[in-house]
Amino acid sequence: MNFIDKVTVQVSAGKGGDGAVSFRHEKFIDRGGPDGGDGGHGGDVVFEASRNQNTLAKFRFQKELKASDGKPGGKTRKHGRNGKQLLVQVPVGTVVSSEDGEILVDLAADGQTAVAAKGGRGGFGNAHFVSSTRQAPKFAEKGEEGRNRPLILELKIIADVGLVGLPNAGKSTFLAATSNARPEIADYPFTTIRPNLGVVDIDDNTSVLFADIPGLIEGAAAGKGLGHEFLRHIERTRVLVHLIDAYVADVAVAYRTIQEELRAYKADSVAGAVSLADRPQIVALNKTDGLDEDIIQDLMSQLQKAVPPDTELYAISAQSGAGVPGLLYAVKRVLQAYAVQAEAEPVDPTPVLRLQGEDLAWKAISENGGFKVTGQRIEKFAGRTDFNNEQGVQRLRDIMRKMGIMHELHRQGIMPGQKVAIGKHGRFDY
Ligand code: GDP
Ligand code: MG
Repeated sequence: MNFIDKVTVQVSAGKGGDGAVSFRHEKFIDRGGPDGGDGGHGGDVVFEASRNQNTLAKFRFQKELKASDGKPGGKTRKHGRNGKQLLVQVPVGTVVSSEDGEILVDLAADGQTAVAAKGGRGGFGNAHFVSSTRQAPKFAEKGEEGRNRPLILELKIIADVGLVGLPNAGKSTFLAATSNARPEIADYPFTTIRPNLGVVDIDDNTSVLFADIPGLIEGAAAGKGLGHEFLRHIERTRVLVHLIDAYVADVAVAYRTIQEELRAYKADSVAGAVSLADRPQIVALNKTDGLDEDIIQDLMSQLQKAVPPDTELYAISAQSGAGVPGLLYAVKRVLQAYAVQAEAEPVDPTPVLRLQGEDLAWKAISENGGFKVTGQRIEKFAGRTDFNNEQGVQRLRDIMRKMGIMHELHRQGIMPGQKVAIGKHGRFDY
């Protein structure tokens, strides 16, 4: 696959606002009930694919993508204001992956969105913690930290047209002759080891991106050789131009060989599982310069029998340019038909990029005369706990009891007064 642009950004969702500790003050009432409100949620960082963006260049100067924090809760159950989400526009074709290379989302359609970092939950105010045994809770939760992580953005070129054909069919020559790209040309197979891209100006207002897909080899679809990776590249093209070398022993066999490769490869892209063989295809017999007209006619009728009935067939010479304009206009027609259809397709609802392995697992070890507990879930709770507030710590103890952590500490021989640290969030006395 061929990426032209790659940047690493740091996405930081907003922190949730802290919950408030407050009690009603009413005339003639000594002590009112708890009325501390909840904190607002932190804002999300959201990516949106936009046709109006062309490159990832702006992220070279703006690597920090931060949404705003939620406001703390107030008295009289006042809910803190939620943080504003940060909507970040990226070009259509941007692939978002984690630092270790896992692809999280492929923003392939205009308007498609994905939550890159979820804002932290606002903490509950003390009004929330009233129970039959706890009439006057003097603690509140702290707001949760927003998710913060580096993400890699890569702009994947989405070529409109894929050039396919056996090695030597003339793909590189065709691209060199019609576009601004200057691919390497040689008369031995596999000259091209990566897709070459070239913009072809079909007419004054139609520019089309072509990808020259290097020689498909037998078995490419089974993952052998270079083929598979290149097949992935043409997955997204809207139309294929299939070039056939007029000098091969049998043009029908040459055609079918490539068809088999395309059929075997199921594109598992966003567009759904579609065999590449079903992609609109225009077939062109190449290298017809220097051939007699009746030989050309003969080869064309052999091809005519091999292709599906409605297939458009052209006789061209990539070298001399004969027949090429007609072929390019056919490409333009097919693309226009596709564009109308694509606009009608609905866009997926916003997915939240998966959090890796967030679970209930925890570990307790004895350390420096105390104990240390780590684990995603318990640390998340600890992050919301105010360790200076005894009631808040008591609630954390309750949660740890429910999770079985207290039992484990006891089993390991913890004594009253020993310190228990939860990750790096804070410590309390057992
Ligand atoms: P690819 O492997 O499909 O990229 O094929 P190339 O573009 O590298 O072309 C293979 C060979 O065929 C080269 O020697 C080209 O000069 C030659 N060739 C390509 N197109 C034509 C054409 O239209 N006419 C003639 N006579 N030769 C061509
Ligand atoms: Mg080539």
